[in-house]
Amino acid sequence: MSDFDYDLFVIGAGSGGVRAARFSAGFGASVAVAEDLHMGGTCVNVGCIPKKLFVYAAHYHEDFEDAAGFGWTVGPRAHNWRTLVENKDKEISRLNGIYQRLLENSGCEVINGRATVVDAHTVAVGDKTYTAERILVAAGSWPTDLSYEGGEHVITSNEAFYLDEFPQHVVIEGGGYIAVEFAGIFHGLGAEVTLVYRGPMFMRGFDDDIREHLAGEMDTQGINLKFNTTFERVEKTDEGYRVHLSDGSALDTDCVMSAIGRRPKVTGLGLEEAGVALKENGAIVVDDHFQTSVPSIYAIGDIIDRFQLTPVALAEGTALAKTLYNDTPTTVDYENIATAVFSQPPIGTVGLSEAEARAEYGAVSVFKSSFRALKNTLSGRAEQTLMKMIVDKKSDRVVGVHMIGPDSGEIIQGIAIALKAGATKAVFDSTIGIHPTSAEEFVTMREPVAEAAE
Ligand code: NDP
Repeated sequence: MSDFDYDLFVIGAGSGGVRAARFSAGFGASVAVAEDLHMGGTCVNVGCIPKKLFVYAAHYHEDFEDAAGFGWTVGPRAHNWRTLVENKDKEISRLNGIYQRLLENSGCEVINGRATVVDAHTVAVGDKTYTAERILVAAGSWPTDLSYEGGEHVITSNEAFYLDEFPQHVVIEGGGYIAVEFAGIFHGLGAEVTLVYRGPMFMRGFDDDIREHLAGEMDTQGINLKFNTTFERVEKTDEGYRVHLSDGSALDTDCVMSAIGRRPKVTGLGLEEAGVALKENGAIVVDDHFQTSVPSIYAIGDIIDRFQLTPVALAEGTALAKTLYNDTPTTVDYENIATAVFSQPPIGTVGLSEAEARAEYGAVSVFKSSFRALKNTLSGRAEQTLMKMIVDKKSDRVVGVHMIGPDSGEIIQGIAIALKAGATKAVFDSTIGIHPTSAEEFVTMREPVAEAAE
């Protein structure tokens, strides 16, 4: 019998924490999980799930327009923001309940409240303390604090999901996942949207062709892209807000949103006092088995800031539970993690961008295909789909696949399996396509893009 209250005390019931807790309990550990907000963490409450529901809602805007070319007469359209938010909230409550039951049914004790680390084996929640042989910190991340004047007028994705009124004009700062996804959501639901990004081209880290294609499509849709500038201050006016930009211009709006990254949520957790080493940005330093500088304390998910993605946190939670309680030391393979950006049109990507592949492999072949999806012939929509594949010339291995266009997330998930299996271009070429789909383009890309003369 252990001297501790629990074998494992998990701080945070988000994607990573819940996975680690459930699996550990399934392997026989006694587990407690503390959560001070809602079950399911960022993904379920203010992230992936409500975001995707909002993306569906926004896309009807195009769907109604496209229907006409197929013979439909669609009557007057109006969007009710309150209905969307209420229905979304109901679905999120249902998911909160599912997460609670998943934990309870797997034998975990759920403790509602904010937990702090007292020492290597002790956690406090309110005025109670609990001991555990091991502590897992899976408290996630939080939108980056704003340093400029008027930051209190600026919402983040946390608030965007609960706005009382739908804004007429939204100004968003940032050029990553959240900024482009919310630009598409607000635009699709009828707002005038301006996206402000500090560099010359947003979506840094993605393949350059994909970045430019997205910028072109957003511009065509009427989203105002302002690059090479930043927010300097935000002023409250009689009508709403005035955003002063570093290029000297100003934008009047009724909603200002920031999406400039998320920081590990370590403040007030007692980690430094307990001797847990943190990086400069607050991320907890862990080894391959998610052990921190204090051997009994572990960390996974956004708080270690490797990849802020739910499926990565799930993989980390699984690996940790197997390592600690199933006698199977497991690490996470971070190679070729596929990801989707639910911009409109969406991006799906796996492996290296062309620039990264050239830097790593030198000689690469690039295959590209740009076309108007079949549906857009009758709808009349000009939107183009772009697909791109990068192949290491020496080994013939496909090292990067990128797509922007409808269903790209769904398509790239399958391609990611092929890359994980080490598929060569010859394997892609010998695969028979599914017709008529957009995805079949990936098995019919015959001629590489001509290389620029040296
Ligand atoms: P991202 O890291 O994706 O993007 C942050 C953006 O803000 C970048 O364009 C960055 O510019 C810019 N930026 C950073 N600091 C400043 C600053 N001080 N002033 C002005 N601009 C700044 O963060 P997000 O907030 O969009 O999302 C957080 C994370 O959540 C993502 O990285 C992703 O991992 C995850 N996420 C995943 C989703 C998905 O899987 N579909 C959806 C939403 C979020 P620069 O590039 O120049 O550094």
